[in-house]
Amino acid sequence: MTGVLIENVHIAPVRGPEIESGYIRVEGDRIAELGPMARPPDAPGTTRIDATGCLATPGLVNTHHHLYQWATQGLAQDATLFEWLVALYEVWAAMDADVVKGAASAGLGYLALSGCTTSSDHHYVFPKGRGDLFAAEIEAARELGIRFHPARGSMDRGQSAGGLPPDVVVEELDEILAATAEAVDTYHDPSFSSMLRIAVAPCSPFSVSEELMTEAAWLARDRGVRLHTHLAETLDEEEHCLEQFGVRPVDYMDRLGWLGPDVWFAHAVHLSDGDIARFAATGTGSAHCPSSNGRLGAGIARVSEMLRRGANVGLGVDGSASSELTTMAGEMRQALLFQRARYGPKALSARQALELATLGGARNLGRQDELGSLEPGKLADLALWRVDGPFAAAVDDPVCALVFGPPPPLARLLVGGRTVVEDGELRTVAHDAAGRAGAEAHRRLMRLAGERGAS
Ligand SMILES: [Zn+2]
Repeated sequence: MTGVLIENVHIAPVRGPEIESGYIRVEGDRIAELGPMARPPDAPGTTRIDATGCLATPGLVNTHHHLYQWATQGLAQDATLFEWLVALYEVWAAMDADVVKGAASAGLGYLALSGCTTSSDHHYVFPKGRGDLFAAEIEAARELGIRFHPARGSMDRGQSAGGLPPDVVVEELDEILAATAEAVDTYHDPSFSSMLRIAVAPCSPFSVSEELMTEAAWLARDRGVRLHTHLAETLDEEEHCLEQFGVRPVDYMDRLGWLGPDVWFAHAVHLSDGDIARFAATGTGSAHCPSSNGRLGAGIARVSEMLRRGANVGLGVDGSASSELTTMAGEMRQALLFQRARYGPKALSARQALELATLGGARNLGRQDELGSLEPGKLADLALWRVDGPFAAAVDDPVCALVFGPPPPLARLLVGGRTVVEDGELRTVAHDAAGRAGAEAHRRLMRLAGERGAS
């Protein structure tokens, strides 16, 4: 069995005590052991990594994204969420499988370069006759070798039915349910070492019918997969729910059977005390996306209160069109700054921010037994951050350097023991080509949208 031995490293395992100078031994795709520096014997076939000057953390887990949006960054720069969506829906209607593949290659590569080993994606725009968009992003993740949790999204409530999106980007209820079931049946791998799991994810209360929300929950539970949607992102959404359904967003989802340990919501910014209590009591998780919330002026989620009351929170970069070039590591800093700006300097510590980005995310995806902390028996997904650079070396606490400062260089990223990033470069795919694929996806989508007459 192939092995990796990482030596002379500061280990922040997230669960369990920190080790100032220690080793991590990987066997196959799992962590075999870790501890203070007592050099374990050489095993044949072992690759030794001298990680002097590095901090080892669990690989970061991104729990909300829309990879296709890599192709529409920088648009509608000063818009509210609803204004931004209305401006972009028509452009997204022109995307095809080539756009999604290129955007996902760039977006996932970019995540890996900032320490992410597992990412979810929420893809909910499926224009007719444009190829297999879901397969395209799965192919990009496979090529890169990142653990992937794509959620088959959907919208069925267009403007003619009182929803926000134009009718051209919504699908029929029956075709959505059939396509979602097919995605789960084709791709979902529930095994411990799984590189690919599927979630069911109607887009949001303002773009999805009550019937689709209900049927989606039934489908996900029938197949044993997780449920995801956007919720309580803005006050406009709350107003929409009160007008259309007579209740606030969390009450609406509760009514449809959407609270539970198999559900995680994106954003959850505008929660009442009662909403937070229900999240905690039901085990409902949320993906905090602070950069996107800041970019769209949506508000600051009550993360430190949620944690205090026992509700799980993970992090998400959200789609690149509402959080351009946001790094996964940078979201820890943004989360910490937002909480402190709102609640004071004790609201969230560096280590709590690291936990949000790792174990919190793993819980959102139902993988807390496999991912999210460095422990023997867990999958060997880990990041080695170089915190001994000439400037960073002035900060003694490496976790502080990682979270309080800009993301440090990544010396190594392992996914299941396999090197995906080394010395800040992608190793499983051509580094520059991944970036170029994203730029090409942008040009292609703009051209296709122009041909459709979208601005
Ligand atoms: Zn989103």
